[in-house]
Amino acid sequence: MNRQSLLERISTTDRWDMIVIGGGATGLGIAVDAAARGHRTLLVEAYDFAKGTSSRATKLVHGGVRYLAQGNISLVYEALHERGRLLANAPHLVRVLPHVVPAYTWYDLPFYGAGLLLYSVLAGSLGFGMSRIVSKAESLRLAPTLSQQGLKGGVVYFDGQFDDSRLAITLMRTALDHGATLINHMPVTGLVHTNGAISGVQLTDSETGQTYTAHANAVVNATGVFVDAVRSMDKADVSALVTPSQGIHIVVDRSFLPGDHAVMIPKTADGRVLFALPWHDCVVIGTTDTGVPRAELEPRPLAAEIEFVLSHTEKYLTRRPQPSDIRSVFAGLRPLVKRGDGATKTLSRDHTILFAESGLMTITGGKWTTYRHMAEDAVNQLSARGFIANKPCITKTLRLHGFTTVRDSDSMQVYGSDAAAVRDLATHNPAWAALIHPDLPYTQAEVIYAVRTELARTVEDVLSRRTRALLINAQASCAAAPVVAALIAAELGFDDAWQAAQVAEYTALAEGYIIR
Ligand SMILES: Cc1cc2nc3c(=O)[nH]c(=O)nc-3n(C[C@H](O)[C@H](O)[C@H](O)COP(=O)(O)OP(=O)(O)OC[C@H]3O[C@@H](n4cnc5c(N)ncnc54)[C@H](O)[C@@H]3O)c2cc1C
Repeated sequence: MNRQSLLERISTTDRWDMIVIGGGATGLGIAVDAAARGHRTLLVEAYDFAKGTSSRATKLVHGGVRYLAQGNISLVYEALHERGRLLANAPHLVRVLPHVVPAYTWYDLPFYGAGLLLYSVLAGSLGFGMSRIVSKAESLRLAPTLSQQGLKGGVVYFDGQFDDSRLAITLMRTALDHGATLINHMPVTGLVHTNGAISGVQLTDSETGQTYTAHANAVVNATGVFVDAVRSMDKADVSALVTPSQGIHIVVDRSFLPGDHAVMIPKTADGRVLFALPWHDCVVIGTTDTGVPRAELEPRPLAAEIEFVLSHTEKYLTRRPQPSDIRSVFAGLRPLVKRGDGATKTLSRDHTILFAESGLMTITGGKWTTYRHMAEDAVNQLSARGFIANKPCITKTLRLHGFTTVRDSDSMQVYGSDAAAVRDLATHNPAWAALIHPDLPYTQAEVIYAVRTELARTVEDVLSRRTRALLINAQASCAAAPVVAALIAAELGFDDAWQAAQVAEYTALAEGYIIR
């Protein structure tokens, strides 16, 4: 499926059952659900799929141990069941990840032990394994870099891990497989109303400037932290629904956490949860929870947030990462629904659905893990209100694109059953078997594959979200940018000026992920 044929579908379709605005976890989940039920579905994304919060997560498919501590059992129960379904439906993208929780007081050991036992039991038949209390020596065997001073023992429990933007690309392809039309670099610039009721959207193609009007029976605003901007296209004087809260992660070398266990610190000095997770060939450490005034497309980590993560890494993993150890630092914004003026940490992570007078549906909040449940809820509510026909949801057991239980190498695993097609490209043209950079695990064939089949259009699309080069080694990704630009240009017929502009744009963006 190429961009041109998707544009033709937009031009030639008189009316869609549903238009979804926003190509993050929420919008993509809704597109999959709606298309799989047989609804004619269009999803439009302003930049790229998962450009927003959905590529900036901690990469956990989890029930949320922290919500358990807050007593939110129903949220944890629902998320644990979605966790199990996601592993069953996308085993190529989700894996079981054992965690060690270190206990530094004798009281913590039974306390965490009991809580995590409840966590394991709540997952029922979809569980990933029972938690257990382990000795100090066993804790250190599983997580050798744990700080030993005062360590009494630990608790081992299980959660899931995934690659967030790869799951987004997989959802995009799953929706395409079921007949939906999805297009990136196509912002909604206005809404269309008929007799006061929402009836469509105005679109502008960022590549050509061409405008389109698309009509639908239902319009869904799934733009994450940007929902209020779209809501104000519907009605000028709406009050803000979402308050953004920033979370950052640093990505460091595996030597900071060798082995295959993650570490979870349930309560830092200021009451936060901190994770250190092996991910690809690195360790991801985070996160923070900092209220910020505005929703930005490229949020920047604050110096205080970086210091928080570095000092806690030193405290719990013995060594403070130096700038040369940090491969990348990234920030994401939680779309937290406003409930008064309290600190953002206490706001709900559950999702919110709101219908405007015009019929515009806004859905925000929730988390990656629960995207399927959110989508089911959204589509059910649209049919309950008569916007679309009532058809049964089939996503609980729907296998996602590329489903396979066969394990591949770490970097190829995310393609699932498509890995053979990626390798075929390199067989067809042996030059594409070369890596895009010696310090990155990605081949040129993956760039070609991303352009031909995954709707990648820019250097950033490839280096940030089709591959994870920007997160696993931001400096190497800059060095790879000219090679990637040349490959994309050759595929899509762009000229030298386009390549130079792309490399400059990408380098400026990646600077924000590098600590010097
Ligand atoms: C630091 C952090 C860590 C997290 N970790 C986890 C985790 O480990 N596990 C987990 O389950 N959840 C996690 N989450 C939560 C999860 O990432 C989010 O709930 C989820 O990604 C939100 O997805 P979304 O689709 O609602 O928003 P987004 O991903 O932000 O998507 C919204 C999209 O709308 C697009 N858009 C905006 N305006 C327009 C327009 N006018 N026209 C068209 N498109 C538009 C944007 O470009 C964007 O791509 C984390 C969140 C944060 C911030």
